[in-house]
Amino acid sequence: MNATSVSPHPTSSQGSYDAVVVGAGFAGLYAVYRLRKMGFTVRVFEAGSGVGGTWFWNRYPGARCDVESYEYSYSFSPELEQEWDWTERYPAQPEILKYINHVADRFDLRRDIQINTRVKSAHFDESRDYWTVTTEKGDSVTAQFVIMATGCLSAPRVPDFKGLKRFKGEWYHTGDWPHKEVSFAGKRVGVIGTGSTGIQAIPVIAAQAKHVHVFQRTPNFSLPARNGPQDPQKAKQMKAHYPEVREKARWSGNGYALLGDVPAKGALEVSDEERNATYERCWEIGGPTLPRSYNDTVFNKAANDTACEFVRNKIRQIVKDPKVAEMLCPTGYAIGTKRLPIDTDYFATYNRDNVTLVNVRNAPIEEILPNGLRTTEATYELDTIVFATGYDAMTGSLLAVDIRGSQGRELREKWSAGPRTYLGLQTAGFPNLFMVTGPGSPSVLSNMVTSIEQHIEWISDCMDNLRKQGATRIEADLKAEDAWVEHVNQVGSKTLYPTANSWYMGANIPGKPRVFMPYIGGVGNYRIKCNEVAAKGYEGFRLGGAALTSARSA
Ligand code: NAP
Repeated sequence: MNATSVSPHPTSSQGSYDAVVVGAGFAGLYAVYRLRKMGFTVRVFEAGSGVGGTWFWNRYPGARCDVESYEYSYSFSPELEQEWDWTERYPAQPEILKYINHVADRFDLRRDIQINTRVKSAHFDESRDYWTVTTEKGDSVTAQFVIMATGCLSAPRVPDFKGLKRFKGEWYHTGDWPHKEVSFAGKRVGVIGTGSTGIQAIPVIAAQAKHVHVFQRTPNFSLPARNGPQDPQKAKQMKAHYPEVREKARWSGNGYALLGDVPAKGALEVSDEERNATYERCWEIGGPTLPRSYNDTVFNKAANDTACEFVRNKIRQIVKDPKVAEMLCPTGYAIGTKRLPIDTDYFATYNRDNVTLVNVRNAPIEEILPNGLRTTEATYELDTIVFATGYDAMTGSLLAVDIRGSQGRELREKWSAGPRTYLGLQTAGFPNLFMVTGPGSPSVLSNMVTSIEQHIEWISDCMDNLRKQGATRIEADLKAEDAWVEHVNQVGSKTLYPTANSWYMGANIPGKPRVFMPYIGGVGNYRIKCNEVAAKGYEGFRLGGAALTSARSA
């Protein structure tokens, strides 16, 4: 920075705020916008050197959102909706990051956001109902409320392979991608992982690299995105009908309006011909709709099997080498129970001469070598390794902060057998600490922007309500929390989700408790519940504070 330029972001913090927000992604930015508008003082701490959260870190080749662009955007400002034009059906990472930066500038949000600052701890002082938040840079501030806007997929995980430190080439985790261009030209590249990220990155890397070895542990279902330039007619329609579209999304099952209503029929209620025609139509349209075209594929294994077999047959048609095709065919779990990727040319990439698929389920990776890696069966020479190995999802970024509530109780200890929350918004014993899209809320099973807006609105309205009542404290009641956890588990257990080894279940992290973390009861139903709770004076929460206590005893 030269002497005349001034960063719009503050560089250090002391003092006291109404709220500290951790993270400046979609959630953190909206929190600043709303809290400021309501007259609260707010300070955001952001670990990255810019705003954007997930879309700041995930700069890997091919990174793209699989929610259609016009729905993956804020709904709080009609002006913003009208002035922004998306260029593609599914927005690529650079365009989303540009949008987020536009929002930060347009609403002058940066002056409350301190970048390059990772939060280290948050400790509650119960004698005064406030939190002390410290950062790795040495800031120490107090705040009545802490809002964890840390994202569900923001603690990247590199498996604990022996020898990684000795690797002489370059290695990257997709969720912590360098801010410089990474060239794969002439390189022998190993990609480990075939989740949504690997599936997006592999075709793009293969188009540049000398050779790509894909190390696959579990084959994944994937559906064609059919991405392309934004249809101007569709964009016009969307802008003309934004209020209705957003309203529909808010009360829908998963926070999208474009995906339509729950279908009337089950997959086994129709003839094979009709079902195949439906699946074929979904395959051609692109996007994640295929398993959602019937109302029972989430619950009924036989119904789900029909969609699995349809996709496996597509893989067999696309991939020319029958052996490779079979290696790519997922078996043993239901489609959709591991997060369903959508792709551009993923399976066809295995027809390239410079791509080799390696099964590391049968022969796991044993060691990273200075010039490659070794499985239990063979050695592979590599110049570059890309870890598309995922995240400590949903709880990782929360537990990365040393959070201590009443009586110094640690969140890490409270959640040692899995996360427990009331509505995914709070956890008992940690007053005035809110989570955005926390475990126990629809979060990762929904359009994140829809869910983020709902949470920030609920939390800020709650803060406003407490202020009006003279309350300084709100805390989830343990009984209400237990009942909510029970409900989340009950709803989840009616589906096929718990049968898969997914990150939804914590199954990707050795030793992580096996719990189905998101709430699958639906975005609309969840919103009704949250609104009811607020309307009943925050039922299931305990409110407290000096003014409130004296008003009640008067
Ligand atoms: P992921 O879904 O957890 O996939 C990680 C991959 O790494 C899996 O294939 C996993 O195999 C493999 N893996 C992990 N440890 C391994 C090991 N020791 N040896 C070999 N393979 C190993 O992670 P992700 O692909 O980064 O995606 C995470 C989530 O981010 C997605 O599910 C999605 O919600 C989100 N995302 C969204 C988009 C989008 O909007 N388009 C794009 C990218 C990511 P196993 O399956 O056997 O565990």
